[in-house]
Amino acid sequence: MQQKLIITEKLEAVEQMGAAISHEIRNPLTAASGFVQLLKEQALPAQKRIEYLEIVQSELESAERVIQNYLTFSKPSLDSIEEIAVKRELTHVISILKPIANQNSVEFITNFAILGIIEGDKQKFQQCFLNVIKNAIESMPRGGQLYINSIYTNSQIIIEIKDTGSGMTDDQIKRLGEPYYSTKGAKGTGLGMMVVFSIARAMKGTIKVKSKVGEGTTFTFIFPNVYPSSS
Ligand code: ADP
Ligand code: MG
Repeated sequence: MQQKLIITEKLEAVEQMGAAISHEIRNPLTAASGFVQLLKEQALPAQKRIEYLEIVQSELESAERVIQNYLTFSKPSLDSIEEIAVKRELTHVISILKPIANQNSVEFITNFAILGIIEGDKQKFQQCFLNVIKNAIESMPRGGQLYINSIYTNSQIIIEIKDTGSGMTDDQIKRLGEPYYSTKGAKGTGLGMMVVFSIARAMKGTIKVKSKVGEGTTFTFIFPNVYPSSS
């Protein structure tokens, strides 16, 4: 099915983004700190010591995951508007995700229009596509193909991210962007798509999702072309 997601509908959720993310980081750090306190106890049996250290490690990893997923590229409150060369920035994001893709036997197949400039914050643009492409990789735990295309038209720059992964039901598609909505259990935070919608909206983009369970998912981003042809 094809569904146009109206980005403004997600607005309210998105405004809580900063608070949500710092909350997501603070929780595991507070837990880790609590167990470090317990570890100071001299009389603690060796078995307990190991148990507590493992909890500390897993809480720190959890905080790190949040940072990796959402804050990799963000500089606090530096919201610059610059020209973004789509091909170059997407190539950069792909190079960052290559190791994870290789681990999952995911093959990148890219086809970029040479031209294509959109306007916005470069780091946020990278963050947006990092989140989308990472989800695509994660939907193919047994490997697959990840097609990334950009298309240049008179008035629009279109970016397509297509995977051959698990796909989503209509209900799952509807819930995309809802804070904490994740089907990945402890491995997910359910904040990635919320960030994606927020960034795309800020860049005057729209997002379409097409998905079929067992076949895969295509995300289509449409941004205004900064240099529209005038004929
Ligand atoms: P997380 O990745 O932490 O679970 P996201 O907000 O990034 O959170 O994604 C929310 C959910 O949307 C995922 O848990 C997954 O169920 C679904 N999803 C997103 N992208 C895809 C995709 N390409 N294929 C299948 N499911 C997806
Ligand atoms: Mg994600």
